[in-house]
Amino acid sequence: MIREEVKIISKEYLNKDVLKIRFEKPKEFQYKPGQFINIKFEQEGSFRMRAYSILNTPSEETLDICLKIIPNGLASESFKEAKENDKYTIIGPFGYFQLNENEKEHVFISTGTGVVPFINIIKEFVKKDYKMTLIAGYKKQENIICHEELKKIEQENKNFVYKPTITREEWGGLKGRVQKHLPENLSKKMFYICGLKEFVIETKESLLEKGVNEKYIKVERYN
Ligand SMILES: Cc1cc2nc3c(=O)[nH]c(=O)nc-3n(C[C@H](O)[C@H](O)[C@H](O)COP(=O)(O)OP(=O)(O)OC[C@H]3O[C@@H](n4cnc5c(N)ncnc54)[C@H](O)[C@@H]3O)c2cc1C
Repeated sequence: MIREEVKIISKEYLNKDVLKIRFEKPKEFQYKPGQFINIKFEQEGSFRMRAYSILNTPSEETLDICLKIIPNGLASESFKEAKENDKYTIIGPFGYFQLNENEKEHVFISTGTGVVPFINIIKEFVKKDYKMTLIAGYKKQENIICHEELKKIEQENKNFVYKPTITREEWGGLKGRVQKHLPENLSKKMFYICGLKEFVIETKESLLEKGVNEKYIKVERYN
């Protein structure tokens, strides 16, 4: 585990309220796809900490996160104002939200920025011998994160199925809540759910009701 001050290399809005921040990666920093870091920041005169899933794979040379800007959120305000070369202390890695490499088939279910750890896992494991499906829910088309990159991975890899779904407007793709788009056959699959508390609880319950054994469900809650 490391605790180190790192500089912001760049900031980029992926859509109107999701910000990708690229940090320098400390040389000795190692992590598994799916893990998160804590970031310490100063706001209103005191130090605080928030957790962020790591967006990019361990072989990449930077450390990228992706955060939804919450109006008046403490970390959100700090990152909104942050500039290139500003320094933040990162601590980590943490978490057990990782691919169960003993299983062959994996279904990732997210809403909003809950997709972040899955992008990392998919990029890392898609070339290996796993079957993976991502069901990513968003309110509107403009909220989708890393859409082109995920579509390209799907086109280039038969073992990956990408299912973005939209709840609040018409578009050319899947509509409605993620639960509507679960695979018909739920057996012999690992399920991973990531997002806000109510979504995670509700989705887990619906899988349990459909007969999925709890040991095949992993969850990560953002609040
Ligand atoms: C393990 C873990 C990993 C996380 N990874 C990410 C990540 O990759 N990207 C990310 O954006 N957030 C992530 N979060 C949430 C993050 O830590 C902060 O809670 C979030 O950025 C809000 O912080 P804030 O200080 O701006 O808002 P606060 O002042 O703390 O206000 C928090 C409010 O925002 C809500 N909220 C928290 N997270 C979100 C979200 N993602 N979308 C919508 N509402 C939210 C809370 O329910 C609460 O109402 C993660 C949390 C955990 C525990």
